[in-house]
Amino acid sequence: MIEHNRPWITPEDRSAVDAVLASNWVAQGPMVKHLEDAFVALRQGGAACAVSSGTAALGLALRSMKLGPGSAVAVPTYSCSALLNAVTWVGADVQVVDVLPSNFGIDPAGLDETIDAVVVVHVFGSPADTEKCREIVPFVVEDCCQSLGGEVNNRPLGTIGLASVYSFYATKIVCGGQGGMVCSCNEAVVDAVRDFRQFDGRATYEPRFNFQMTDIQAALVLSQMNRLAEIKRRRQLIAQRYRSILPSDFSCQGGLVNEESMPQRFVLIAPDQGIRDALQAFMEQQGVRCIVPVQRFELLHRYLGMDPARFPVAERLSETTLSLPLYPSLGEEELDHICEAFRVFCA
Ligand SMILES: *Cc1c(COP(=O)(O)O)cnc(C)c1O
Repeated sequence: MIEHNRPWITPEDRSAVDAVLASNWVAQGPMVKHLEDAFVALRQGGAACAVSSGTAALGLALRSMKLGPGSAVAVPTYSCSALLNAVTWVGADVQVVDVLPSNFGIDPAGLDETIDAVVVVHVFGSPADTEKCREIVPFVVEDCCQSLGGEVNNRPLGTIGLASVYSFYATKIVCGGQGGMVCSCNEAVVDAVRDFRQFDGRATYEPRFNFQMTDIQAALVLSQMNRLAEIKRRRQLIAQRYRSILPSDFSCQGGLVNEESMPQRFVLIAPDQGIRDALQAFMEQQGVRCIVPVQRFELLHRYLGMDPARFPVAERLSETTLSLPLYPSLGEEELDHICEAFRVFCA
């Protein structure tokens, strides 16, 4: 079976983790600091604070902007439950917004001046229209959990909003098992995150929480960050290949197959749900695991019991999309096999 996700862990990655284990300093320490420095370098400035997950990063980014009870935070319905969890954690009111069929990102037309903050997700690596959102909403958090290493107009994704967040979960661009990062050009935002994370040994008490990353995770992530360019090249090649074999009645998410983007997933759009489901079953028979990237029940408006008719684009995407295996450790023969199976299905 060709899995849908597979981490790419090299002997160098293992050595990096081994070195941490041998150093006897395994909790948050010097490697976490190195990883934060690597993010500042990648983003060409600002500050960074490593945390335990992408969800923690999102919650802390919102908290550090003093968003809480009484604030309205907009999130795209087509994303993941982590967004809802983070907004709920800070106690703000959630405003669920439909997405665009082109890049699957939040539809800026769904935002208005009553909204205090918006979480903009660059879905599966495809850049969302952050500029447009920033014109409407005062606080913008860019969710780069699926787009680390992507750029737009020669500028790293995640440098337009007030803060941006990253995840190092197993299926993301680089994998630490778990882990997250908050970055901002505004030092005060990152300072507030760091203050909350440093719960131990403080002179005065305030509620804080252990959202720390370990040096073991940081070493694993940092080692993969060293080959971000190669990760991008390989992901691009696979995405290009899939796009080149799409028959005319299929389409795919836009904004991914170009030199700047970091494709996290290749998501095709079938003519209808029946064909999508048949394709998924056929690929499974051929030993290729494809997934529905966001199921209908996972749409945030569904979790909240809102009227589905208000979210037609996300509803349609949940019915027609399918994600093919896309990761740098996918072998050439595996890629050939996937493409051949798809070709046979379409014939
Ligand atoms: C994975 C992900 C998160 C949450 O990250 P975790 O590290 O799993 O908590 C948040 N937003 C998006 C868009 C993600 O893909």
